[in-house]
Parts: sequence; C-alpha cells; structure tokens
Amino acid sequence: MSKIAVFPGSFDPITTGHESIIRRSLPLFDKIIVAIGVNSTKEGFFPTEKRKQWIEKIFTGVKNIEVKTYKGLTIDFCKQEKANYILRGLRTSADFEFERVIAQMNRSMNDKIETVFILSTPELSAINSTVVRDIIRNNGDASQFVPSAIRKEVK
Ligand code: ADP
Repeated sequence: MSKIAVFPGSFDPITTGHESIIRRSLPLFDKIIVAIGVNSTKEGFFPTEKRKQWIEKIFTGVKNIEVKTYKGLTIDFCKQEKANYILRGLRTSADFEFERVIAQMNRSMNDKIETVFILSTPELSAINSTVVRDIIRNNGDASQFVPSAIRKEVK
C-alpha cells in the first residue's frame, strides 16, 4: 500500500516554514497532497486559486506532490484520497497543544489515519501566515518569509 499523506492548511499564503516541512517530509511518503481547506463562511486573504497556483509553482517538477482544495472534514478528505497520514508542522508548545486536540479527536473518528508531526527548524519557527498577511496588508516587505519561487508575486 502506498503511503499517501495529506498536509492540510490555509496556506494563506504559503511560507518558507510550510515549504520546509513539505520538502523534509518528501522522503517519508510516496505522495504528499497539499490540501487547502476552503471555509465557505470565511473568505481568505488571497483567493484560493491563487494560493493553489503558488504552491504548484514552488513544487513544479516534483512529481510526488499534488495540490488540491477541499471542503469539510480533513479525515473525510483523507478517505476520499486514500491517504492514511495527516502531516502537520510544529513550531511551539502552543502549536503542540492545539494540534494534539485535533489529532486525538481525528483519531477517535478514524483510527486508520495517523497524524505525523515534523518539528520546524529553529530559524523558521517564528514564521506565521497571519503575521505575513499583516505585513503585506500594511505595505511591508514580507518577501523573506515567502518561498523564493513566488517572492515577486506575493506583495
Ligand atoms: P492552519 O490554517 O490550519 O493554521 P496553516 O496554513 O497556518 O494552517 O499551516 C498548516 C500547517 O503548517 C500547520 O501544521 C502549521 O503548524 C504548519 N506551519 C505553519 N507555519 C509553520 C512554520 N513556520 N514551521 C513549521 N510548520 C509550520
């Protein structure tokens, strides 16, 4: 059975922190699906389609990465994609507490799906999409926090 992982998130926008987690996880899985969760009641800062295109651009030529959007529960999307792993990044103990609850509740709902955590590298652990959005909203330069392939476009 091939090892398929779903990396769910808002990726609004994708940061160097996300990119690093994905690249470091590539050797662990046959396929990683970067899954942009779409919330029908809450519009994101960047359009979903733009976020998807940026992630595709960053990973152009990497054949075991797919980028998809989904609505609803992550475990339902995993089932639909035949993915047995949920991938998440951990930056801080606050992330851990938040992620612990979600992972344990997901496990209660579906014990076939394991959540796998990758600890961020120290130099990327402060990077956060919310702060990147605030910098952009206030006309600051957030380029160092955004993957190099899309730096010119994310302004
Ligand atoms: P959400 O909208 O669920 O918070 P995000 O798009 O912010 O999702 O992030 C998706 C995943 O990436 C989460 O597991 C989050 O902890 C992780 N992540 C975000 N930023 C970083 C970073 N700088 N280093 C490592 N992991 C990160």
